[in-house]
Amino acid sequence: MKNIVSNVMTTSQNLISSMETMNDYHDGKEQFNIVSSIRRKVVLVNYAAMSYLLSFTVILLFVSNYLTIPFYCVIQQRSPDGLFYYKAFSWFLLVNFFMNYGLILHGAVKSLYCSPNDLPLFNARVHEDWGMCQRCDRQVPVRTRHCNICDRCVLKRDHHCYFTGSCIGFYNQRYFICLAFYSMAGALYGFYFLENYLSASYVTLFSVEFYKYFIPYTMVLWLLRLQDFGTVLLVLLLYLTFVGFGGGCYFFFWQCNLILTGQTSYELMKGKKTFQTTPRNHLRSIFGPHWYLNFLFPMPFLKSEDDGMSWNTTSTKFL
Ligand SMILES: [Zn+2]
Ligand SMILES: [Zn+2]
Repeated sequence: MKNIVSNVMTTSQNLISSMETMNDYHDGKEQFNIVSSIRRKVVLVNYAAMSYLLSFTVILLFVSNYLTIPFYCVIQQRSPDGLFYYKAFSWFLLVNFFMNYGLILHGAVKSLYCSPNDLPLFNARVHEDWGMCQRCDRQVPVRTRHCNICDRCVLKRDHHCYFTGSCIGFYNQRYFICLAFYSMAGALYGFYFLENYLSASYVTLFSVEFYKYFIPYTMVLWLLRLQDFGTVLLVLLLYLTFVGFGGGCYFFFWQCNLILTGQTSYELMKGKKTFQTTPRNHLRSIFGPHWYLNFLFPMPFLKSEDDGMSWNTTSTKFL
């Protein structure tokens, strides 16, 4: 038993340290020898995170549409029209979430840089400022970085997203930002109705009895048959929704900061400000013209004025 526990501890520690190494940024000049077994484990984390996010989103929509929103409308004496609009808005959030999710995957494939022929611009010529990726053994555009998990070079690589199992780069950063926005909005929307439901049917959350929301406490109530298992699950879902909201806020504001500074996560970490121009230019580079439209619905046809390979370092490009 002791051996099993120590083996599990060692394996999990190895996995965490290998994930940190895999996620670490490098300057494209170092040779990385990735052990394929470690890579496979990290890819499994990808699948786990993707499954979690997608199933959680669907469950939250299901619970909202069939339980908490109808309950709220009865309590608040809303008309059938009101019920329809509440439900329609939850579907609007869900459709935007999945559209952006799909476009992240689509953009991730486009962002992969293997050879000039893989790029939309077939006449791409190697510029003198391009670097060398030792792992791919070819010259790559400036701001292109190798992802050890995807094992490819990615145009304007920002980071590897485990929740979508893909790299965020030039062609999908805008959808990642919108996904974070809709995760935040959807979680907040779901939380509001769920909190209302539990406050009416279980215990008011914002009261002196808030301790009854601690999962061990609700579990004990369920074991003593003082509470049904459905309530325990709903309390757990409330926690996950809150975490989802926090996660959405974190990713969204992290990316907002990058838009302001005109850097990738790597450049921010290294303090590189080579490609900074103006926030307006940064917005247009990521979202294309009319950036705000992307937050109403995905706009893949509004192209960026950059090509992901050559970058202007002056602040007059779009002025
Ligand atoms: Zn590479
Ligand atoms: Zn990646």
